[in-house]
Amino acid sequence: AAEEGFDIEDVEGAIEAAGHGPLPVLAVVGRPNVGKSTLVNRIIGRREAVVEDKPGVTRDRVTYEAEWAGRRFKVVDTGGWEQDVLGIDASVAAQAEYAIEAADAVVFVVDAKVGATDTDEAVVRLLRKAGKPVVLCANKVDGPSGEADAAYLWNLGLGEPHPVSALHGRGTGDMLDAVLEALPEAPEQTFGGAVGGPRRIALIGRPNVGKSSLLNKVAGEERVVVNELAGTTRDPVDELIELGGVTWKFVDTAGIRKRVHLQQGADYYASLRTAAAVEKAEVAVILIDASENISVQDQRIITMAVEAGRAMVIAYNKWDNLDEERRYYLEREIETELGQVAWAPRVNVSARTGRHMEKLVPAIETALAGWETRVPTGRLNAFLGELVSAHPHPVRGGKQPRILFGTQAGTKPPRFVLFASGFIEAGYRRFIERRLREEFGFDGTPIHISVRVRE
Ligand code: GDP
Ligand code: GDP
Repeated sequence: AAEEGFDIEDVEGAIEAAGHGPLPVLAVVGRPNVGKSTLVNRIIGRREAVVEDKPGVTRDRVTYEAEWAGRRFKVVDTGGWEQDVLGIDASVAAQAEYAIEAADAVVFVVDAKVGATDTDEAVVRLLRKAGKPVVLCANKVDGPSGEADAAYLWNLGLGEPHPVSALHGRGTGDMLDAVLEALPEAPEQTFGGAVGGPRRIALIGRPNVGKSSLLNKVAGEERVVVNELAGTTRDPVDELIELGGVTWKFVDTAGIRKRVHLQQGADYYASLRTAAAVEKAEVAVILIDASENISVQDQRIITMAVEAGRAMVIAYNKWDNLDEERRYYLEREIETELGQVAWAPRVNVSARTGRHMEKLVPAIETALAGWETRVPTGRLNAFLGELVSAHPHPVRGGKQPRILFGTQAGTKPPRFVLFASGFIEAGYRRFIERRLREEFGFDGTPIHISVRVRE
């Protein structure tokens, strides 16, 4: 590498950074108005429109990437969920439950000016049961005079309260140091060191696409092996289902079976649940109602799974309900709306009639295989060498940027680092991704390509 103009340490650093694998997840929970969204904004270091004045606004996005002291993690923001339907205690508890379930560590935000309320105490009980590491954030301590308020929160029994002003940034650095200590380096529970454990599937899709019907169909025809009781909730959350002779873990099925009817905030609730399921899963089976137009919501769910870096299968459901005209338009829509995930294996199913249910497992296996593919460095560079000489990057400003060499830094999903002599344009990056897919068959998986340019 050195003779190509890259320092060996740069190369190693780039590979390590690209190969990080799944990021640990931090959930921010607490009562309404304690400052969760303000804190999330602080943590992600952006003035994104997370804090909304209007109650009941729908936000699809609930996870954000953050970095502190060189470590990256994800933040799940629970601030956008409206509470008035279930009653405040029940909804704060439920919201916290979902977030805690998906998290590796939790920041519990309490309004230090108000002090601990009964609702706060209820959340504390949940946190205890869940057994995840907790960092207690005593928020709205805008100045030294508020420190005493924060100290009262020792009473919660969650250890040291960290006095913070999410609004002004006071104390957030110390709190984030504590967060980093609480977060695992790599989220063990997400990608379970349990070698040979059942593969984890998230069955996701917008309401009424047929998730519950599909689950009942697969669980009904095959044997439901076990209903696991989750540690924290009264409902079975994950279900082990035997399909094609293999046991699979369908994560978060309680949310599918249990029809929670919320008016306000229902979409947000669904997004949070979807995000939680995706975080826990290795492969997302995205269900789309083929009898209806592909919607923005379908696309957002797909984006969520892609951004989370999960393997993916797209199942077009209600196939029994399609006439010829609809089939024609569906194909056009798939081309125009879902072109960016053309790599995802596709199955056309009917949860009602059982059509093509047997194709689901092979599609999932294909996607997982793609997700885990590792290309040896020698093969990759032979391929890149040929590619670059047959299709050089366009000349720009009298120079021709060239890919010098590359390596696969990680899997699940596959991550590549390419080292180049100059800036590589987006079009050329896409071209490389396409050719990588053709050559190595990354069906069913997003792939990440980062490019390092020689200084
Ligand atoms: P959430 O409902 O828990 O997400 O709370 P928000 O982040 O929406 O904040 C609720 C209100 O508290 C907003 O008016 C914020 O500006 C305010 N707030 C949040 N953090 C602080 C803080 O550290 N100090 C003060 N004084 N106000 C804060
Ligand atoms: P979920 O909200 O995604 O869990 O969707 P459900 O499983 O509750 O299904 C929503 C509606 O679609 C119900 O009325 C189902 O009977 C219907 N449905 C589900 N799958 C199919 C299918 O394959 N064909 C037809 N025609 N209807 C279906």
